[in-house]
Amino acid sequence: MSHPPTASDLIARNTTYQPTHHPTATLSERFASGLKGPTVAIIACPDPRCIPETFLNLTTWDAVVIRTAGSNVTAALPTLIAIDKLVGLQEIMVVNHTDCGALMYRDDEIRETLRARAPRMAHVIEQMAFGEITGTLEDRVTEHVAIARRCELLRQELREKVTGYIYDLKDGSLKHVN
Ligand SMILES: [Zn+2]
Repeated sequence: MSHPPTASDLIARNTTYQPTHHPTATLSERFASGLKGPTVAIIACPDPRCIPETFLNLTTWDAVVIRTAGSNVTAALPTLIAIDKLVGLQEIMVVNHTDCGALMYRDDEIRETLRARAPRMAHVIEQMAFGEITGTLEDRVTEHVAIARRCELLRQELREKVTGYIYDLKDGSLKHVN
């Protein structure tokens, strides 16, 4: 049985990759040539089985992928806002996936562990959320699409263009959640 690669193994892989690398434009080169940056942001989960670059067949400049545990929109907000400032986003896709690990832990359990680890940080820990999913995936997607749509920190035009999906790990399909 093979073990997952260590960080050193991954660094070694880069030496194989580097000679095959095709240089990409800098941001200033891209904007100077009149081309836009990506206009779609995808909020997905860091689960190694859920790779939007693969199942959406993304190439460089196609989209910005933000990955937070359980595809948590609230946790993605600072990154989303920073990217919007930079490229002017036009759409947000919230993508959850089947068999998400966030269905299998509770934020309260994690808070309890953290309070034992860092008792002096209790006030910070109370404010932290870890992306738990307590209901169905459909409900979760609907809830987080709604969070983005009513978030006043996002531009109104962007809030009107938020859609939600479930990616099926078994058959590779992306189902729109209304
Ligand atoms: Zn997940």
